[in-house]
Amino acid sequence: MVADDYYNILGVSRKAEESEIKKAYRNLARKYHPDVNKDKGAEEKFKEINEAYSVLSDPQKRAQYDQLGHERFTNASKGSYGGSGYSGGFSSDFSGFGDIFDFAGDIFGGGFGGRSRGPQRGADLLKRMTITLKEAVFGSDKEIELMHAEACKTCNGSGSETKKTKKCPRCGGTGQVRQQSQTPFGNFIRQTTCDQCKGRGNIPEKPCSACHGSGHERVQRTVSVHIPAGVESGMRLRMEGYGEAGDYGAPNGDLYIEIHVTGDKNFTRTGDNLETTTHISPAQAVLGTRVEITTINGKKLELQVPAGIQSGKKLRVAGEGVRRRGRHGDLLVRVDIVIPKSINSEIRALYEQILVLEGHNPSDSKQKKGFFDKIVDDIIGDKE
Ligand SMILES: [Zn+2]
Ligand SMILES: [Zn+2]
Repeated sequence: MVADDYYNILGVSRKAEESEIKKAYRNLARKYHPDVNKDKGAEEKFKEINEAYSVLSDPQKRAQYDQLGHERFTNASKGSYGGSGYSGGFSSDFSGFGDIFDFAGDIFGGGFGGRSRGPQRGADLLKRMTITLKEAVFGSDKEIELMHAEACKTCNGSGSETKKTKKCPRCGGTGQVRQQSQTPFGNFIRQTTCDQCKGRGNIPEKPCSACHGSGHERVQRTVSVHIPAGVESGMRLRMEGYGEAGDYGAPNGDLYIEIHVTGDKNFTRTGDNLETTTHISPAQAVLGTRVEITTINGKKLELQVPAGIQSGKKLRVAGEGVRRRGRHGDLLVRVDIVIPKSINSEIRALYEQILVLEGHNPSDSKQKKGFFDKIVDDIIGDKE
């Protein structure tokens, strides 16, 4: 079989019925339409499909094609129309295109960005909300003010004084109008949304004077928002039906609340764990100590810091982190050893004694002018 045999192109047998050819063609045209399929070669494929269909859908041409075979038929059509190949040879007599866009509605109506007919659901709204870390951990109830469209009270959202609508005269109630455009492949007829009724198919019988026929009015509204415990920055809460009003008879859009959690001076959050820092002295680190810490809900806890703790180590307090869906995160207490910057003479004497016991010379700690100056110019990172 020849690769570009029209039957092959449509994937049908030579005995295929008209309806079978049409069905095969529709499926392929949907798949390869250049507005839908951006793959390289899709456009070429689309042309081939149309060429094949234009011949096989016409009983006279199909008979001719069957009689002559692919090569002779295509040469004959080139010859008779004086063009070259598909675009020249068929565009002037391309009955196939007439049918193609009879079903443009089903190509573009179903999920390819086309607006469907009938009353439209209202638009979604997005509001950002800033909360504290504590509110995020425990959850909170907040009120927000927002402007949104509600159904007009005068006309109940119908847009009409009489509360009745009538069929749109421009599109005859279909919500769609046909638009013709010239392309290299011929005349395309495309369906677009009717701009008089915005695709609804109906217009107000007598436009409502309060809302000018839109059926909506903008109002300021206070909405109570329940923020569940455990939310994180960037999460969006969805409040169904709190968005913009839809068309008459259609549901409202939803309200989305995007959460932003501010930083906290005592706690940071990683997943469901919280982290805080406790400061201890070198002596406490060496000998071990007890420290008091405060949890995020204000509870005081006493913690045992083991002897020999290293700076930066973390102690885990189970269950004092973020509580989300019954699971509890932990509180991690980071131990920060703070070296005293000024000490009294008594403490100094004790540190000097430690130096001696460690085998160092206490007099090395005294600054020797002109010697250490050359080695240490600055203490990098010392902000104070
Ligand atoms: Zn219309
Ligand atoms: Zn109104």
